[in-house]
Amino acid sequence: VISRLFDLLVIGSGPGGQKAALQGAKAGKKVAIIEGNDALGGGCTHSGTLPSKAFRESVYRYALGSKGILGRETSPHSRAKARRPKKVELPEMAKLLERKCRVVEGEAEIVREKLKRNGIEIFEGRAKLLSNTEVEVTSARGRELLAADFIFIATGARPVPPEHLKVDGRRVFDSDSILGLPTFPKSLAVLGAGIIGCEYASIFAAGGTQVTLIDRRQEVLTAVDREIVAHLTEWFQHLGMEILLGAEAVSIEGTEAPLGEAPVRLQLSSGRTLEVDAVLIAQGRYGNTEGLGLEAVGISLGERGLIPVDETFRTSIPTIYAVGDVIGPPSLAATAMEQGRLACCHALGLRDAGACALPPVVPYGIYTIPEISMIGRTEEDLVLSKADFVVGRALYRELARGQIIGDRWGLLKLLVDRKTLKILGVHIIGDSAANLIHIGQAVMSLGGTVHYFVDQVFNYPTLAEAYKTAAFHVLNQPSVSGK
Ligand SMILES: Cc1cc2nc3c(=O)[nH]c(=O)nc-3n(C[C@H](O)[C@H](O)[C@H](O)COP(=O)(O)OP(=O)(O)OC[C@H]3O[C@@H](n4cnc5c(N)ncnc54)[C@H](O)[C@@H]3O)c2cc1C
Repeated sequence: VISRLFDLLVIGSGPGGQKAALQGAKAGKKVAIIEGNDALGGGCTHSGTLPSKAFRESVYRYALGSKGILGRETSPHSRAKARRPKKVELPEMAKLLERKCRVVEGEAEIVREKLKRNGIEIFEGRAKLLSNTEVEVTSARGRELLAADFIFIATGARPVPPEHLKVDGRRVFDSDSILGLPTFPKSLAVLGAGIIGCEYASIFAAGGTQVTLIDRRQEVLTAVDREIVAHLTEWFQHLGMEILLGAEAVSIEGTEAPLGEAPVRLQLSSGRTLEVDAVLIAQGRYGNTEGLGLEAVGISLGERGLIPVDETFRTSIPTIYAVGDVIGPPSLAATAMEQGRLACCHALGLRDAGACALPPVVPYGIYTIPEISMIGRTEEDLVLSKADFVVGRALYRELARGQIIGDRWGLLKLLVDRKTLKILGVHIIGDSAANLIHIGQAVMSLGGTVHYFVDQVFNYPTLAEAYKTAAFHVLNQPSVSGK
């Protein structure tokens, strides 16, 4: 028997679910959100974005301090001096995690308050679809049957290791368990050089861990502009990181002993054996669709348990939408939020709330140390499509702010159409990259040209001036200025 009727039911309280629910509530609808976890906020708040970024901040600040490996002033002319010192003092894991705990607790509370303030009802329990409009919620209190006109699935994704490698949360970790490390490891092998693998590899390396980054592919961060990746890997090597490409883990042995007693042995396909304190597996994620009852209502799953949707985020069943990590790439909190809002607008026919599809280009923030951010096309992509373009570069070390903060490695790269001078892509590596990208994003999405950067006055000294420098670099090239 249906116990409660709503206009909209949302499954999952991560960024995707929250924004779908809030958009529905703002439109005056009766909305409920169902969350299977003890606390609200999704994987984003409890195991993904926020814990990793709060931890990064703590490690980065430690690394910049007098005992950290980034804490020594180095000559702007001698990169060699930035090398990892021989003796490294490792930070205390418990201290580093204080910020993470504070941020996670705070955010879960903020989410709860926001949902309540908007009149959204919260159900704690596991959701399962019974029909196109009905959901069963199972919790310690028993079962409840809810019904609504529309259902939004925002159940996220989880890390899944390859079958032959076992995550035990003691010596072998995934991204959900890595911050459960009792001490900062002396050595760490990271399997997978995608975003999550590179982020954690660089965070631990900056903290003083001897990191080995391993990937079966021949490239690190395959979707990123190669020049930016070259800067990143050069920096990684200065942190003392070893990068092994074209190799994969065959087995992991010696995991019974506690961390700090004896090393675990990682056997690689190349024949090499690594002895390390701990292993992080970051090799792919699966949609959280098990037990959701999707097949029963007629929704077939795609690869890796992901839910296929159309451009409006509707599944094959018109009353059921899916957003966020459960539908696959780009698998970012930032896009999950917008997908949730847009899916709700589409379901409710809220045309005035904007178009119901994501903008053609979305920014990516990669919080390695140093940070990377990008929007639009890469140089390789433009070359492949035989586009006529110019590259403008600005190095942080040429900017007063770059000198002040000691970032000598930073680079901002503009890819510009040679004839129209419109921006085709922006790629940044260095401090505040993920913030800076939004200047380029605004100019790109408003159809502006490099003249915007030249004609406007920028605060001094800022990293944003990199846009002006890169724009001048474009305009000063003979093929553009006609010199
Ligand atoms: C280590 C790491 C770092 C990351 N860093 C970034 C970053 O810096 N920037 C960025 O934009 N993105 C980042 N991401 C990605 C980001 O966390 C995800 O894209 C985002 O969390 C996806 O949001 P979502 O709403 O789809 O799902 P989630 O945030 O995963 O939330 C899904 C929720 O659904 C609940 N749920 C699942 N099944 C059920 C069920 N049957 N019934 C009830 N509830 C259910 C879960 O308990 C969970 O709370 C990172 C991810 C990881 C793993």
